[in-house]
Amino acid sequence: MLNIEQLADQYGLTLCVECGKCVAICPIGEVFNNFSYEVSPRGVIERILIDPEIPHDDSMWFCLTCDLCTDLCPAGVRFRDFVEVARQWVIETGVTQFGSFCESCGVYLYPQYVLEYVKQTLGENTEEILNLCPRCRRYEIGGTIKTLLPGRFKLNSPRSRMGDNQ
Ligand code: SF4
Ligand code: SF4
Repeated sequence: MLNIEQLADQYGLTLCVECGKCVAICPIGEVFNNFSYEVSPRGVIERILIDPEIPHDDSMWFCLTCDLCTDLCPAGVRFRDFVEVARQWVIETGVTQFGSFCESCGVYLYPQYVLEYVKQTLGENTEEILNLCPRCRRYEIGGTIKTLLPGRFKLNSPRSRMGDNQ
């Protein structure tokens, strides 16, 4: 397993030229009231380069994984990809309070902050969709179908619809 310095190297954090373009483009300042420079991409990178530890506070959990910073970075820093791996590391050390997890199988889904933002933006009725991973959602739909008595209704399958057009 890589250490944090190797991870920073792998995702180009050490190439950062401190231009600040990522901070300017990053949407988290518009999305979260508790935004500060420390949780911006450049803020997190700076901290890790000075003190090569994965932050165990919430600073790495604001990123919305939009990847705009990577698109704009002149040095090739892949901050979004770094954050995704670093979050998994943090979870594996037992720090789980900043993540949300599939209610059925427990797999990591998104940061809590991102989940709250999406719920507020799209409405609480999205909760059911957001709290399950794709596999468990599929299984849940399968379970619902199972409860419907076989033969009660029939739909044309995509295959038979294709046949209709031939
Ligand atoms: S855009 Fe790239 S080089 Fe510029 S501060 Fe951000 S990470 Fe560093
Ligand atoms: S990937 Fe994360 S850090 Fe980069 S611009 Fe998007 S929200 Fe900001």
